[in-house]
Amino acid sequence: MAARRKVILLGATGSIGTNALRVIERHPDRLELVAVVARSRFAETAAIARKFVVPHVGLYEPQNPPVRDALPPSCTFHSGTDAVTAMIESVEADVVLVASAGTSALRPTLAAIARGRTIALANKEILVLAGRFVTDAARRHGVRIVPVDSEHNAIFQCLDAGARTGVRRLVLTASGGAFRDLPVDQLADVTPEQALAHPNWSMGPKITIDSATMANKGLELIEARWLFDVAPERLDVVIHPQSIVHSMVEYLDGSMLAQLSPPSMTFAIQHALLYPERAEGVVAGLDLTRTIDLQFRPLEEGRYPCLQLAREALAAGGTCTAVFNAANEVAVEAFLAGRIGFLEIPRIIRKSMDRAAVREPGSLEEVLDVESDTRRWVAQSIVR
Ligand code: NDP
Ligand code: MG
Repeated sequence: MAARRKVILLGATGSIGTNALRVIERHPDRLELVAVVARSRFAETAAIARKFVVPHVGLYEPQNPPVRDALPPSCTFHSGTDAVTAMIESVEADVVLVASAGTSALRPTLAAIARGRTIALANKEILVLAGRFVTDAARRHGVRIVPVDSEHNAIFQCLDAGARTGVRRLVLTASGGAFRDLPVDQLADVTPEQALAHPNWSMGPKITIDSATMANKGLELIEARWLFDVAPERLDVVIHPQSIVHSMVEYLDGSMLAQLSPPSMTFAIQHALLYPERAEGVVAGLDLTRTIDLQFRPLEEGRYPCLQLAREALAAGGTCTAVFNAANEVAVEAFLAGRIGFLEIPRIIRKSMDRAAVREPGSLEEVLDVESDTRRWVAQSIVR
């Protein structure tokens, strides 16, 4: 049996983080948690550190002076972004699971890549913001990025079946989100509570709203472009309401390969953490003694403007995807806070993209500037 893999978990308190802990708990002989990091929730993070006897704990933004007694005696606490990044660089680890939300995961991820650690990547925002910089760095350092986002993890698995030159297209499946069957003329009045009721998946609030608008699928198209180095026209989306087929690869000969499992993120997380090994899962696989319906249908024109905007951003390239992502993030926050309506989200993204001068960024700082400029502008235009 191979040595246990040492895992650093960024975003330990979140939805992916919690599922990752289930996977790690299931495989104590293969996986060892060496560090857990969250944004600000000390009590929750300390509880994880106690349960898993984790030697390193970090918070990007500690809200209260942490109570030392809450941590195991042997545990080192890392407070603030710089300390957490230094810890990621210095602690011995094999794989970093990037499951913290938002683009602030960028610098820690680049730090982990520079140290040659395998990246299990759940966070999609950093690829949308700076995909070229992240994938260039991974290539330079010979680092493998194994996707955790279920669609991309499925594609990663299906790509093992043939030569890359034989691929015709990648087909991402989409559940269609909370409003897939709601008449389009009723979308203007939907509430955050309704949008948060995802039919298949239990996820964090931001990504659940993104599923309802399909901005999430848009982000995933951009994510796929970088992870698999494919041209945008080779990326398709199909509605698959059951969320059992997580995505597909079509080869030139017409064969289509798919990855199937029940809608639990534990499958993709475990695959990414153990790759290329396989082991018993946390959740039972599909039960084929019962009838399982699998449906696929094309996207309905006009229902998902955010997806169309993402396609435009992808085609424009350069800083445009950073604008799309930043505008969407601020708009979703405002929608969740009850300050704007559901259909304002695509309108805000549209306006942000129209005002932005798209360019190929020469440096990471340039992309980060575009991001903060877009955020500021959207926040101000919502207040007005
Ligand atoms: P959650 O909101 O449930 O959890 C977010 C985690 O990240 C928490 O640990 C939180 O810490 C931390 N965090 C939040 N904001 C920041 C920040 N600004 N800087 C550093 N850490 C932060 O999110 P999810 O688990 O749903 O998603 C995590 C990532 O995975 C996202 O990028 C998402 O797009 C991606 N993803 C999620 C899927 C899912 O099924 N949930 C599926 C595919 C991808 P704290 O608790 O202290 O606030
Ligand atoms: Mg996904």
